[in-house]
Amino acid sequence: NEELLRKAEKLSVIGELAAGIAHEIRNPLTSLKGFIQFLYPSMNDNQQYADIMLSELDRINFIVSELLVLAKPHSIQIKPLPLIPLLESVLALLRSEANLKNIDFRTAFAYHPIIAGEENQLKQVFINIIKNAIEAIDGHGEVHIATSLKDNHQVLITLTDTGCGISEEMIHKLGAPFFTTKENGTGLGLMISSKIMKDHNGSLEIKSREHEGTVVEITLPIVQDQIGSS
Ligand code: ADP
Ligand code: MG
Repeated sequence: NEELLRKAEKLSVIGELAAGIAHEIRNPLTSLKGFIQFLYPSMNDNQQYADIMLSELDRINFIVSELLVLAKPHSIQIKPLPLIPLLESVLALLRSEANLKNIDFRTAFAYHPIIAGEENQLKQVFINIIKNAIEAIDGHGEVHIATSLKDNHQVLITLTDTGCGISEEMIHKLGAPFFTTKENGTGLGLMISSKIMKDHNGSLEIKSREHEGTVVEITLPIVQDQIGSS
């Protein structure tokens, strides 16, 4: 955890630079895409190459938009948010993908607090983590999502999967930019998630054992108990 935080800190300078570059890359990308689409009807037999170009441009766009999360958002909207509905909406988003892979979501929401945060950024974190869990499972498996009260002023969100786990040598590389073991991975999800958690005065910790699965523990400060007030 300490290490992830330290990495996130070190990366915030690099991140801001990357985000600045990402921003600059966006406009030429958009114009490239526009011109390819413009030429499309006249390409006849070559349209297949245009399709590849467009899908590669989409991939660059995706990576660039991931990097943009690292920029200080101009209109960051910190609002009180009920945590459980936020988690439920993320699960709803990913449920069909999980169903296709024969993966069950199990929830144990023992605590329903209100937290403070930027809704889309927090969703982004949970999407990243749960997507990683889904991608780590080969065949049937489960992803557990639980909430509980921690130290009287924090919520602990535990995301556990029955996936392939992470070897000891790999676990030190987590959170480094572009570190991925996936053919189509960006290696940005965990780095960006750690940064977002840091911006929310929270934490993100990963425990894993190869072949046994992975646990991601996220803590966030509580603004208010959903039932009653504190
Ligand atoms: P990406 O998903 O694009 O590879 P991430 O930053 O989200 O990038 O994750 C980096 C790497 O960490 C993954 O490629 C994978 O090797 C490992 N990883 C992350 N989460 C899990 C998990 N739940 N189970 C196994 N490995 C994981
Ligand atoms: Mg990922």
